[in-house]
Amino acid sequence: MSKILLKNIKYFIPCEEKEKIITGIDLLITDNVISKIGKNIKILGDEEIIDCGKFAVLPGFVNTHHHFYQAMFRCIRTVQEKPLFPWLVDLYEFWKYLDEEIVYLGAKVALGELLKTGCTLSSDHHYLFPNNNSRDLIDYQIKAAKELGIRFHSTRGSMSRGKKDGGLPPNCVVQDEDSILQDSKRLIDTYHDSSYDAMTRIALAPCSPFSVSKEIMMSTAELARKYNKVFLHTHLAETLDEEEYCKDIYGCRPAELMDEVGWIGKDVWFAHGIHLSDNDLKILKGAGIAHCPSSNMKLNSGICRTSELYRNNIPISIAVDGSASNDGSNMWEEVRRAFLLNHLKYGTEGLSAYDILRIATNGGAKVLGRDHIGVLKENYLADMILIDVENISYSGCHDIAYGLVSCGNTSLVDYNIVNGKIVVKDGKLVNVDEKELFKRANKKADEIVAFRYNELKY
Ligand SMILES: [Zn+2]
Repeated sequence: MSKILLKNIKYFIPCEEKEKIITGIDLLITDNVISKIGKNIKILGDEEIIDCGKFAVLPGFVNTHHHFYQAMFRCIRTVQEKPLFPWLVDLYEFWKYLDEEIVYLGAKVALGELLKTGCTLSSDHHYLFPNNNSRDLIDYQIKAAKELGIRFHSTRGSMSRGKKDGGLPPNCVVQDEDSILQDSKRLIDTYHDSSYDAMTRIALAPCSPFSVSKEIMMSTAELARKYNKVFLHTHLAETLDEEEYCKDIYGCRPAELMDEVGWIGKDVWFAHGIHLSDNDLKILKGAGIAHCPSSNMKLNSGICRTSELYRNNIPISIAVDGSASNDGSNMWEEVRRAFLLNHLKYGTEGLSAYDILRIATNGGAKVLGRDHIGVLKENYLADMILIDVENISYSGCHDIAYGLVSCGNTSLVDYNIVNGKIVVKDGKLVNVDEKELFKRANKKADEIVAFRYNELKY
């Protein structure tokens, strides 16, 4: 039995529904669970003790949308000023060379940055399988997550509608529907864990309305719903181009299309959800949204209706999106941007800092269907972050909730604890040599990008 005792916490922020911030309290972790919270918990001598006199302690952030492989394709000059559709068309020409090593290293880099910036549970949306070859790309992501010690919901993405069928991606990166469903089933049978403390779950995730057929949306939902807690995920209502595409091809709005193919309910979550009408919000019926502020700003996609979603009890969460549209995996910075973008759109009707912290923690847990994550209370899973608030970036701060999202140093957390294990200590990853990872990832990323530029004869 392992025990960690957080002693004398300066600010304890459990992120329960009612705003509550407690000072001078202790928290005991036994194995992977929060076993006790209270004043002056007795030291028995068999615990690892962390003096929390300078730390704010809150639940870990939950990242509900990402494309890890993009961590290897950041800041490519030729796509920087483009909106989503032309941006994608150019990048597919790099991404068609994806292999196991790129996927493994991209996952390690993205997950490493997520852990260091306060994320304890992340999903990923991997939809690129070049040349109809499933290989073991998702298996390599799961390997990376296990090595780093983060909780991981992998989504088996897919693209079946290539250029020749009226879709956006080139045909060399789309797959036939049988291969998609077979590999989806293989991954669920091999890795999906429906238990309350699962470290790995699988969800199924056709890429977007403009890259798959209606048939694959329906057969994917049918497959997922044969299993317990296998959720469904896709991009939705990200741009007005997508809306026009759906109206042209399907004669309806993107949310109406989801309703038509049975993609509505508590087991579904959508990335972005920017261009949703009042009627679309009614259609969602419990489906969740992954709000991706940086990506939406960078690709000029629009601003998500975060206040309406939150106040209408539509599950909403925060996500970094892929590292080619962000270009980072800094979860804490994303929380800050969600707060600022909400205030830009709503002004005096904006959400409070505490609301934003709740969205980033238990909001994300709800979207991913996790009952025992996202709140710090007894018998919940021990996923939490410790942040030093006794440094210059918090000087003169009069409200710690606002301080964490607005004035603090939104870069590194001091400790990150996942499932009762310390995975970041003193701001550094515990389970990987960061310098070695940087060198190896850069070498591979340089090779593949240089290869594409040579092909173009730049
Ligand atoms: Zn995305």
